[in-house]
Formats: sequence, C-alpha cells, structure tokens
Amino acid sequence: MVSDGRSSSGNDKGSLAAISELFDEAARPRGRNRGLISSSAIGLANRGRVLQVLFDLGPTSRAELARHVGVNRATITGIIQPLIDEGLLVDGDPLPSKEGGGKPAKPVWFAKDAAPICAVLLMHDSVQCCLVSLNGTITAEARADFPPDAGDVDVLKRTIFATLSETLSLAHRPPLGIGVAGGGMIDTDKGTIVAVNLAPLLAGFPLGAELTRRFGLTTRIDHHPRALLVGDRWFGIGRGKRNFAVIYTGEVLGGALFLDGHLYRGRAGAGGELGHTFVQVDGMTCYCGRRGCWETIATLGWLRREAQKQGLASADKMDSQRLVALVENGSAGAAELLDRYARNVAVGIANLQQTMAPNFIVLHGDVVGGGSCLLDAITRHVRDLVPWRPGGDIELVMGDLEDRAALRGAAGLVLSELLHFTL
Ligand SMILES: [Zn+2]
Repeated sequence: MVSDGRSSSGNDKGSLAAISELFDEAARPRGRNRGLISSSAIGLANRGRVLQVLFDLGPTSRAELARHVGVNRATITGIIQPLIDEGLLVDGDPLPSKEGGGKPAKPVWFAKDAAPICAVLLMHDSVQCCLVSLNGTITAEARADFPPDAGDVDVLKRTIFATLSETLSLAHRPPLGIGVAGGGMIDTDKGTIVAVNLAPLLAGFPLGAELTRRFGLTTRIDHHPRALLVGDRWFGIGRGKRNFAVIYTGEVLGGALFLDGHLYRGRAGAGGELGHTFVQVDGMTCYCGRRGCWETIATLGWLRREAQKQGLASADKMDSQRLVALVENGSAGAAELLDRYARNVAVGIANLQQTMAPNFIVLHGDVVGGGSCLLDAITRHVRDLVPWRPGGDIELVMGDLEDRAALRGAAGLVLSELLHFTL
C-alpha cells in the first residue's frame, strides 16, 4: 500500500530535521517487539523511499520517479510537493522534451538552500572540514595539519574541534549533522576509531560520541573509502549502478564495495580492508605489522623506493602525476616503473574482481593524477589477470584526486541516517 506523504506530514517546521524527528517517533521499531506500522508511518516511509530513489538516480522527473517507485504520478506529486514546500527539494530546469513533443519534464532534486551537512575528512596527518549542501555544493572549507611531533591525543582533538568550529561558524543555518570520513580502521557501529596505522594516537578515540557531545549534532563516521563510494553514488560516477567498487591509493590503500544495490560494511565496519589483503606470501612488512599486504606494493611508499632504485629525478616526491610526466618526456626507466606500478595496483583489483565481480571500479587518490596513461595501463593488467567470461566486461574509471567525493559522501552518511535510507 502506498500512502500520500502529504496527509501524514503533520508538521510545519519546514525542515529536514522535522521529518527526521517524525521518523524517529513513528517509524523506528523499538526493541524486540515490533508493532504494526501505523498509517502515518507508512506515509513517512514512502517519503523515504522516494528520497532514496532520488539519492540513487540523481535529478529525476516526477514521471520517472513514479515509474521507479511503481506508483502513479499523482501519488508522487502528493509526496513530492510537501517536500518542495518545506524547502528540501526543488524543481530543476526543464529537461529537453523527448521526440513526439509534450511538456518538458522538470527534474526534482535536493535544494541547495536546505540546511547543510558538515563533512569531515580525518586522515592520519590532517583534518579537513566543510559544509555540503544537499545538492552537493561544498563551502566553508577549513583544514589543518596535525603537528608531526604531537605526543598527546589531546593535541589532535583540539585541532579537530577547532577546525570543525571554524566551519560550523560559517553555516547560514544550523547544520543537520556531522559526517566523518576517517582513515584507518573504523568501528561504524560504535562510531569509534579502532586504529590508524600512521597515527597511533587516534586508536580507540570515540570520535562520534565526542563530536555529538561537543556540537550537539547527529554524527556518523565511516571508513574513508566507503565515504568515497557514497559520494560517488550520490553525486558521481557510481550513480544508478547496482554493483561497483572504489579503490583509493596514496600513502595508504583502501577500498569499498557496493553490492546488489547496497554499501557493504561487514560486521562493525570491518569489510573493505583491501589494502591489507595479501598479495605476496612473506612479502614486505606493512604498517599493520603483517607481511605482503597489497598496500606494500601499490602505494606511494613503494613507488618512491622504486623510483630511488631507478635513479629517477625527485624520487622522494614521486607520485603518479610526476611519473607520467617523466614517461611523456621519454624516460625509459619511468615507463618501466609505471608499468610495474600499474600491475601492482591491478593485482589487488583482479583479486577483488574474482571474489565479488563488481565489474565497475572507480579509482580515487594518487593514481588519478596519472590520467589516462596510468588508467589504461592498470586496465590492461586487470584484463590480463582476470579470465575472460561472457558478460564479464570490466570497466575502470578515474574518480577524483582531491577527495571531494569523500566529503560529499561523509555528508551522505548523515542524510541516509536522518532519512532512514538504506545505503
Ligand atoms: Zn597490512
């Protein structure tokens, strides 16, 4: 049964927070005894369904929404209009009409001026904060590096809180919550940092609880590559996909999986530690203390050591962008190193493809700087390493170098929590 969202909105607060409160009151099962869903809760749940389709598909006309949700257009209008009146959604510019004429359809999308979400990117050496509007616009950016000689977690905490305060002070209206993309091992159930190999001081830090206590806002924290994936799904190249994977490379290597229409987290967020899957028995020692992890052969540390061995210029600052520039200048040593680096990145992707078959893989981080030259090399190696099968085409694409997807994805974590989307 589909109920009209309008009849059950019952509030005039005009905010996403108000919708969320209603969800909390009416729709969440409490404890073990799940009661039947009341008719008002059904209306709210249907709103959530429609918003989730928008999140999945991007700007979409009412007719398309109706088709995806399996209801008629009048029902969709009944659900959408109150959300437009509340300022959560807006009508976009008309889409060109299809052949055969007819009125051009206006896509519905999240409003730029709705309350923003504060996004945090917490890496081992820095914290970056910004506001993300519901249409993906990033503003009020602030960033701070952690002091390299910090001997106390309180120093890092002060840096995190000060950077967040700076961003929050620039919000034109109270933010809906704080979403954190964190490097290292994250317990998504508890909202805590389990461990960060490159920043041991952060181990055990209950970041989610501390941020909620300090700023009084809903906080969601997830593993950095999973935030990238959510950003890709909401605003980027993963939109509308049923299956895809994200791989991040740089100082560290991580990944995330979107399988059969859902973000895969594993128990307590332990899934997706791809950087520490083994690719070399008794290989090099990893930051995690084990040997032969994928991270030991497909990150900047490996690239710089090998560049040194090759005698390449600026080996200690080598990255994918510099390497490709050397290749384009005719350096045979750089070309050989690029091919080995591409193969090392491809090895882990091939293992992932063989295990889960995401078939569509978005690369983020340093490798993006290598452009099509590096992408083509990685793709060629992946295709060589994975046996061909009918319908098994593998596509690799570049995401972003600057972690914009991670910030947007961190905001997406909060939105999904408030509106009870299933990511
Ligand atoms: Zn490892």
